[in-house]
Amino acid sequence: MSVTIKEALLRASFLLREAGVENPRREAEALLCAGTGFPLAHIYAHGEETLTEELHTRYLDWITRRAGEEPFAYICGEREFMGLPFRVTPDVLIPRPETEFLVEATVAALAPYSQPHILEVGTGSGAVAVMLAVLLPGAQVTSVDTSLPAITVAADNAARHGVADRVRLLTGDIYAPAAAEEIHFTAVVSNPPYIPTAEIDGLAPGVKEHEPLQALDGGPDGLTFYRRLTRELVLLSHLPDILAFEVGAGQAHSVIQLCHTAGYKKTRQVKDLAGIERVITATRL
Ligand code: GLN
Repeated sequence: MSVTIKEALLRASFLLREAGVENPRREAEALLCAGTGFPLAHIYAHGEETLTEELHTRYLDWITRRAGEEPFAYICGEREFMGLPFRVTPDVLIPRPETEFLVEATVAALAPYSQPHILEVGTGSGAVAVMLAVLLPGAQVTSVDTSLPAITVAADNAARHGVADRVRLLTGDIYAPAAAEEIHFTAVVSNPPYIPTAEIDGLAPGVKEHEPLQALDGGPDGLTFYRRLTRELVLLSHLPDILAFEVGAGQAHSVIQLCHTAGYKKTRQVKDLAGIERVITATRL
């Protein structure tokens, strides 16, 4: 059965609307563009063109997945972060717009250093590590994740954006992979899992059922990883000068206290676009 672009879009928008997806028409168009490689203008101008059987089958599969709340980024395998496209798979958290504030705050805090060595904890897609390397051409980045599949995705993204030679990816738990090294890291940067365990169940189905739980669950009060990130700094051969953390809503005060206790007395907070204290930077000197 041959189906035109216009017919496929109409049917897809209907299915997405029925499934309760917001902006069904826009998502149907965007998935068609991603699936066919056609620009949006082509879809508008050539509605009578028929889709090949293969493209139509793939499009229906994608629409069915989207109707089942699978995030758009996992279906098309890509998400933009700070203007660059990043490959994403269900092994990694989809980069969030608020995490751009973490990158910006880290870049600002590192302004006095021409050749910083950054230790990032919780690589995921590699969005933070790769963007830091892109924005700071003099920087070396070491990035650690417990998930080997995530490290593989991050390696792809580092290569794609031409920074594989300055982004070193290690598998392991927090500081363990870097602890034996004689490196004085300038900064430790992390967007750790920070959702309190009891709140996981209340997250949107697209997040709860599709994104990796290990990248979201921050323990009973959501602060487990900030405690470890601050208390275990002593495992490193030298204390870093700067800490930069993304935090969950309402966590800024507690995380600042943890930084103070670890000897990082000067702290700065950055709000995200929703007005939530989202990033903490702390300096020791
Ligand atoms: N910001 C993410 C969310 O709300 C959580 C990311 C994290 O736990 N670091 O889904």
